[in-house]
Amino acid sequence: MERVRIKIHGIVQGVGFRPFIHKLVRFYQLSGYIKNTSSGVELELEGERQELERFVADVPEKAPKLAVIESVEAEYGLECVGFSDFEIRKSKTEEFRNTLISPDICICEDCLKELNDPADRRYRYPFINCTNCGPRFTIIKDVPYDRIKTSMGQFPMCPDCSSEYHNIENRRYHAQPDCCSDCGPRMFFRMKGKEAEGDDAVEEARNALKAGKIIAIKGLGGMHLACRCDDPKIIKELRRRKQRDEKPFAIMCRSTQCAEKICRISTEERKILESFRRPIVLLEKKDLGSFTELSENGYIGVMLPYTPLHYLLFGNDIDMLVMTSANLSDTPIMYKNDEAEENLIDIADGFLLHNRDIQTRCDDTLCWVLNGSEYFARRSRGYVPFPVRAAVTAQLLATGAEQKASFCLSKENYVFPSQHIGDLKNMETYENYEQQIEHFKRLFDINPAAVACDLHPDYLSTQYASSLGIPVLKVQHHHAHMASCMADNNLEGTVTGLIWDGTGLGSDGIIWGGECLSGGYGGFKRTGSIVPIPLIGGDRATKELDRISYAMMKESGITSASENPGYEYMLQNGINCPQSSGMGRLFDGIAALTGIKEKASYEGQGAVLLEAEAVKCVEEEEGTYSVSFRREQDSDSVLRFDWAPMTAEILEDISSGTPKCTVAAKFMNTLMHMAVEQCRNAGNSRVVLSGGTFQNMYIMHRLPGMLTAAGFDVYTHRRVSCNDEGISLGQLCVLQYHLESMK
Ligand code: ZN
Ligand code: ZN
Ligand code: FE
Repeated sequence: MERVRIKIHGIVQGVGFRPFIHKLVRFYQLSGYIKNTSSGVELELEGERQELERFVADVPEKAPKLAVIESVEAEYGLECVGFSDFEIRKSKTEEFRNTLISPDICICEDCLKELNDPADRRYRYPFINCTNCGPRFTIIKDVPYDRIKTSMGQFPMCPDCSSEYHNIENRRYHAQPDCCSDCGPRMFFRMKGKEAEGDDAVEEARNALKAGKIIAIKGLGGMHLACRCDDPKIIKELRRRKQRDEKPFAIMCRSTQCAEKICRISTEERKILESFRRPIVLLEKKDLGSFTELSENGYIGVMLPYTPLHYLLFGNDIDMLVMTSANLSDTPIMYKNDEAEENLIDIADGFLLHNRDIQTRCDDTLCWVLNGSEYFARRSRGYVPFPVRAAVTAQLLATGAEQKASFCLSKENYVFPSQHIGDLKNMETYENYEQQIEHFKRLFDINPAAVACDLHPDYLSTQYASSLGIPVLKVQHHHAHMASCMADNNLEGTVTGLIWDGTGLGSDGIIWGGECLSGGYGGFKRTGSIVPIPLIGGDRATKELDRISYAMMKESGITSASENPGYEYMLQNGINCPQSSGMGRLFDGIAALTGIKEKASYEGQGAVLLEAEAVKCVEEEEGTYSVSFRREQDSDSVLRFDWAPMTAEILEDISSGTPKCTVAAKFMNTLMHMAVEQCRNAGNSRVVLSGGTFQNMYIMHRLPGMLTAAGFDVYTHRRVSCNDEGISLGQLCVLQYHLESMK
């Protein structure tokens, strides 16, 4: 007989890990204890050496599927102290702090069976859950993760639930949100002239949806607005009420089979769509011209039901529903009953709510599937607050950008990226941002010693960083993008960064965004860009795209452009015409030039529509326009793409009746050839792709292959978004590098 001390690191809290250990201890007939520690759990066990070794080997082998075991350290040969039984030692708050917290998980197979079993005591109970499924991050108020510190604290367990909770053989052993219809939360439904509770509430909501009503539904991380998606009139009405003209709406489908009726789904996409994280997956429409009311491009955002309530709502007869975040333009997703009922009064016909509070807003995750894994547009529910492993040892904060805000906190080789926050220029969004930073600091017990932020002095995230009273490092926007993609792929050293986005302040005070950078975490040199475009009227040009195409034609010396005296005056005299090398602006200009879009209703719409146009080509378009470069002077090391010849050629194509899809494809092909030339010029064999423009699947399905064929190793984002939401990770890694090099 001997004693062993075992330390297990990873995600082992709230994922059924302790019951798993308990069963294993019984199986090998060992004694001892388990307790939570700052880095996971610690066990001490007594038994024969052989049994103890088998036990240790079983831990990573047989752990519950949600547990993430990062390491198991065992110290054998300790003297026995004579444990008589196996005990779970109560956690002290401070010891608990560093343990990771599970994201929210969709209902599991076992719970789904019980939900549909008339003989089960939780038959049709919408809050059914167990240690393998249910809400986590969104109901946690504080750590340690115990029922009392979650939204379930106000629902004392009934004797039946309590006996399950305490029974080691039960699937609900130590499942903190465990409940039933006797002791747990309840649904209710309100619509003009109708009120219902419990199961009737769900039935009433189903009937209202079928009758074409718009219903607000409380989900895991916030409210959704739902309606039928087979009737364009209803979707148009939802757009009118929500004042959302053209941005796509996501849908929820009853099953993958239902989704397959309207979308193409590859094996890889199916895997992510059906995963327990249940993101919205952007799937290609079967018929490109279909469901134009849902989305004006070739994709539909599809998710599967993830809460028990969703399953009850769909029943056997509803195939798909529009399921869009309930918010007013640019404000955060609503998550409280009273705010929803008050603010959605003119949008929703009815409300399907319940009395379990959402503690933390968490929007649905939005991603494409690329190379078999998620390629995030928005990393949120189901993923957050899962950390990213990175070589960052210090406790640091990075405050992100502004329009697609996010933040990162770090500790002991973990970086915790926040959920999707939104546009900080909105006051409520900004308040939520500050609250979430505080919440994360408390949950993970992080007290940042320094902070990284964007170079832009006007970003609210920059001002927030400066207000903290700790050392601040300002990181150039595109450098942060590059560092983010490096960290995402665990790269060290130097790389070439192709960084294409809409807007970011450059080191020289002008707006950048079509950049080729050389460097690493420590710094960068600009080796490629595009010739800056004057934005007539500054920010207004991001909405009125014809201002950009006008400037491009003028700068290209094209005289046939119909004169606009106002634009002309501003352009000639350089009045409010800031220069921008933003790739997004080049897309905007071409969208207007081709007549595809002249007035944009959301940022990046020009690029979205050019992509949608290009994929309409019946045959793969190989052609390009002129790939010309300009150097400011002979000594200039920046290889700038000159779009003037291309602008003239596009106008020729248009006037000779070349289909728009061909023009759009040739335009993007031109950019990809430009990218290859710029990477050759930069000289590094490793290329990282970052920036919001790389949400363009026409480019993402071609450019990495072209670069690989040209001899480069290409790296794309895998764990955080390529858009500004991902840059906080890069800022943080640049800060870590600077702190290290100062040592
Ligand atoms: Zn379950
Ligand atoms: Zn109960
Ligand atoms: Fe950016």
